[in-house]
Amino acid sequence: MAIQLRLLHYTLFPFLLIAASVNANQRPGSLPLRNDSAAVRFASTDFGNLVHEIPSSVLFPTSVDDIVDLIKLSNHKDDHLLRGIAARGHGHSVRGQAMARGGVVVNMASLNSSGNGARIQVFRDKKLGFYTDVGGEQLWIDVLRATLRQGLAPESWTDYLYITVGGTLSNAGVNGQTFLHGPQISNVLELDVITGKGKLMTCSKHKNPDLFFGVLGGLGQFGIITRARIPLAKAPTRVKWAFVVYSNFSEFSRDQEKLIASTMAPAPDYVEGHLVTNENITLQWRSQFSSPSNQSAIADLLKKQRILYAIEVVKFYHNNTPASPPIDKEFERLLKQLSFIPSFVFSRDVSYFDFLTRLPNLDNLPAPIPFHPWLNLFIPKSRISDFNAAVLAGMLPTLPPNPSAFYLLYPTNRNKWDDRMLAVTPDEQVFYVLGLLHTSTTSDNAEILKFNDEVMRICRKKGIQVKQYFPHYESKKEWINHFGPKWTIMKHKKAIFDPKRILSPGQGIFNHV
Ligand code: FAD
Repeated sequence: MAIQLRLLHYTLFPFLLIAASVNANQRPGSLPLRNDSAAVRFASTDFGNLVHEIPSSVLFPTSVDDIVDLIKLSNHKDDHLLRGIAARGHGHSVRGQAMARGGVVVNMASLNSSGNGARIQVFRDKKLGFYTDVGGEQLWIDVLRATLRQGLAPESWTDYLYITVGGTLSNAGVNGQTFLHGPQISNVLELDVITGKGKLMTCSKHKNPDLFFGVLGGLGQFGIITRARIPLAKAPTRVKWAFVVYSNFSEFSRDQEKLIASTMAPAPDYVEGHLVTNENITLQWRSQFSSPSNQSAIADLLKKQRILYAIEVVKFYHNNTPASPPIDKEFERLLKQLSFIPSFVFSRDVSYFDFLTRLPNLDNLPAPIPFHPWLNLFIPKSRISDFNAAVLAGMLPTLPPNPSAFYLLYPTNRNKWDDRMLAVTPDEQVFYVLGLLHTSTTSDNAEILKFNDEVMRICRKKGIQVKQYFPHYESKKEWINHFGPKWTIMKHKKAIFDPKRILSPGQGIFNHV
């Protein structure tokens, strides 16, 4: 049936209403689409500031049905919306993954416009225990606040919480707790998903598992997550938190691997490694540890060798008063098993909430807005020393000193990942998560992009089988290589759930095919 579109412009209220005659399954009426310059500009930017794709319009849904209707309309073969629909979580991608050139960007935050917290609810079930049902558009910071009110919290987090549930579940959601609890995609009981055909489906490991395992880590290719059911545990109240420094890479990596092993006792709750190439790096983000004298000692060490390594190790505990003696002793026992430079240990005791929210909201960065040409990799443990020699010790210190740069390297356990999902990891039991979280300006951005390319070139040359996290590739061949044996599954699921290849075109996966 032919669809007739009638576009009405409202000058006072800049909504572009699309009235359409639709088939029997579609909700007749109008969609809250906007194509004014503010809406278009908003949807053509992201945290990376490297890619700017102009959509034809932006949907500000007030209900899940608005998104269902949009996707149904787009499935009509004559419709211009077929150019693509991208859910935009919080736009914290760095390579335009939540954009849709010439298509429609769905501003997921609008689902939350009532602001009454109704889209984060906590339940208790005899079989499932405590869990929360949260809208896909919800920020993790709000999930934390709402669940903590009941003394509960999810167990798997990202380091930064001003990103959405749907956005991280489309990737993996990792941090220093992943070795213990798995990535966020391993911590989901059930999802509501609108497929690329415009069908709203509930899925779990047992119900529509093909969709469930496709959507988790599926880079937004099969459906838009509108609800996620996430298990909750009793939330710790306090955190013992230490930052220890190494000059030797072998000791740094050996200690990190020891810390994440199941045999470690007492076991930590969080382990992340840092790469320090200039003394200012320890001053920013979560470096509340350093005093000016530490800074000069670190600067002295950096003069001797151009890179230092640090481990951030954490133990949670349940106590309303800081530092009761048993946890102090336990934490001391844990640190005693590590081989860091003895005088370089900085520790703190903070609330669980303060620890999880240690990274501030970066929404309103002052102008000029910087670029974030990030490179995130998963590196097999067997090649981590080679990677360190060639890239970390070999190349990283050659970059111009940048106090805003942030470099992470920590191991995690593959057995906490579910291989039925499409998130791709190296094929080894332990692999490292690397985050080269560069910040750049117009003067050094090209140099950093070139640096990232060079890292990838060296890995290819040396046969280090890294996998990109938040992958960005220019060609079909590279995507096939990225997914390896999962490419066939990817294509199969795309044909079933989004046969017209409508969803998340900004990932650039099926645009080459
Ligand atoms: P967007 O960038 O808006 O979207 C990402 C992709 O998911 C797009 O393809 C989009 O179309 C799709 N998508 C969005 N919402 C949905 C939905 N509801 N259903 C289906 N598809 C959807 N990641 C980690 O794993 N660990 C970290 O510690 C971490 N720290 C970060 C710190 C900062 C400062 C920043 C900027 C990012 C960090 N990230 C981290 C990366 C973050 O996980 C990604 O940016 C991710 O894409 C989530 O961001 P978002 O919610 O803004 O999603």
